[in-house]
Amino acid sequence: MYDLIIKNGNIIDGTGAPKKISDIAIKDGKICEIGKISGASNRVINAENKFVTPGWVDIHTHYDGQATWDPYLTPSSWHGVTTCVFGNCGVGFAPVKKGKENFLINLMEGVEDIPETVLSEGIDFCWETFPEYLNALESSKRIMDIGTQVPHSALRFFVMGEDGANHLYKPNENQIITMRDLLEDALNAGALGVSTSRTTKHKSADGNLVPSLNADDKELAGIAEALKNTKKGLLQCNSDMGPGEMELLIQASKYSGQPLSVLLIQYNDFPERWRETLNYISKANKNGIITTGQVGSRPIGVLMGFNTSVNPFSSHEDWKKIKNLSNNERNKILKNDMNIRNTLINNVPENAHTKWIKKTFPLTYLLKEPLNYEPTKEMSITSIASSLNKSPWEIILDHFISSNDDEFLMHTFENYTHNSLDVIAEMLESKYTICGVGDAGAHVATICDASYPTFMVPFWSRDRKRGKLLNLEYLISKQTLKTAQTYGLNDRGALIEGMRADINIIDYENIGLTKPCLSYDLPAGGKRLIQKSNGYNHTFVKGIEVSQNGEFTGELPGKLIRGSQSIN
Ligand SMILES: [Zn+2]
Repeated sequence: MYDLIIKNGNIIDGTGAPKKISDIAIKDGKICEIGKISGASNRVINAENKFVTPGWVDIHTHYDGQATWDPYLTPSSWHGVTTCVFGNCGVGFAPVKKGKENFLINLMEGVEDIPETVLSEGIDFCWETFPEYLNALESSKRIMDIGTQVPHSALRFFVMGEDGANHLYKPNENQIITMRDLLEDALNAGALGVSTSRTTKHKSADGNLVPSLNADDKELAGIAEALKNTKKGLLQCNSDMGPGEMELLIQASKYSGQPLSVLLIQYNDFPERWRETLNYISKANKNGIITTGQVGSRPIGVLMGFNTSVNPFSSHEDWKKIKNLSNNERNKILKNDMNIRNTLINNVPENAHTKWIKKTFPLTYLLKEPLNYEPTKEMSITSIASSLNKSPWEIILDHFISSNDDEFLMHTFENYTHNSLDVIAEMLESKYTICGVGDAGAHVATICDASYPTFMVPFWSRDRKRGKLLNLEYLISKQTLKTAQTYGLNDRGALIEGMRADINIIDYENIGLTKPCLSYDLPAGGKRLIQKSNGYNHTFVKGIEVSQNGEFTGELPGKLIRGSQSIN
């Protein structure tokens, strides 16, 4: 007797193989048969005209805090994600000494834009060491499987104290050895790797550069040695990729004998640099050093609105008079009071904020339905304003008050230098890239890219209007088997007999995203941008249905993943 048979689905198995119509039988959380199945089953789902895929494996999230208070891990669980990995980009909440938690909160607030009040109220720090953090994560039920990595900044601060917070201070030999030993303990306890940040984009909330910014080869060698000694885990890195960076990281990975995964992003200041990084990645792989580039699927940017973290008008004097009003009340004033309208549009204060906002106009677009994540140059605020002979501020203001919902601008600051997603197509086409950089759980009131998988599948296989499309089966492999394999999660990511039954049944005709909106549902009433999905008929985690047509079933079969996994 099977637990479940999914009949007549169009199976996209995650390996990149062409889709085929077949049945899948599930028992005890595993896929036990694929083909024409006639045996008895407790439940049968007719998946005719539906796609049956592995659950998405999102390896670039920041649920380090949220995972301790929210069993549902939204937004990811609204988007077919059945496994997520956090502890990315060198930031997280363990190890941490009692009384020193605020340093890590401040760092997470600055680097990943998760408010301090949310983290302070949400997290019950009942751990100090990384293995204790894993135990805390393991003690609660949740909707999907989670895995995590040791954040370099936390490790550094734990070992070096206040010195460790300063990126200019180098650890001494003993401190390097202590970091190595603690990392070994963490890897042996089940950490999936270690992550580090080497980007000047990352600053703590009080403006300091991240501790790990320019860790030298000795410090990195200490980290690599822990990977080498345990033969476990991966090195994940977010770097500006300036001169010498890839050499250093590849050297560390080579020494460790373990894989490397880096972010692959187009920066506006160096729009071609990602190609050099990708060349390094390809070369490293050819030399036997397993290296992946984590890529996005749409522009990376900031959503701006009246109520988001970044509001173009926030420094206008007259804004302060209306900022605490509801959207309704505020819109009434902004539609009728010509004085206040006029000052907001024409009396723009000269300061760093407005200077930056003005600079964004050529790469900022009105986000309207139907959502367009590849707008043309003519759709930028600059172009619209000049074609209508109006002030850009008027265009923005009228957009924000066009409804009583929150309306947004999309400012693209990465992956969209030339107003085209052709760079993403090129990145996705490399066999050494995987889907990542959605930063789910982070940047809560500036972006909501936890929805990447739901965007990627229809956009890149069907809906894109301004350039080439990619093969659907290939795209899905980048979000399933390839991401799972990157972290050694060899028990999932493909619909193959013996694998975990982490499965999405998708209505491809209707898969898509809803408009982003603000929700005030974080601890302490903190706000975040959320974006929901359509088209996921069923999502199963280990054979148990966790959501049906966008509604959670209440089942929480997700577990903490400790270390790499194999079938059985
Ligand atoms: Zn990140």
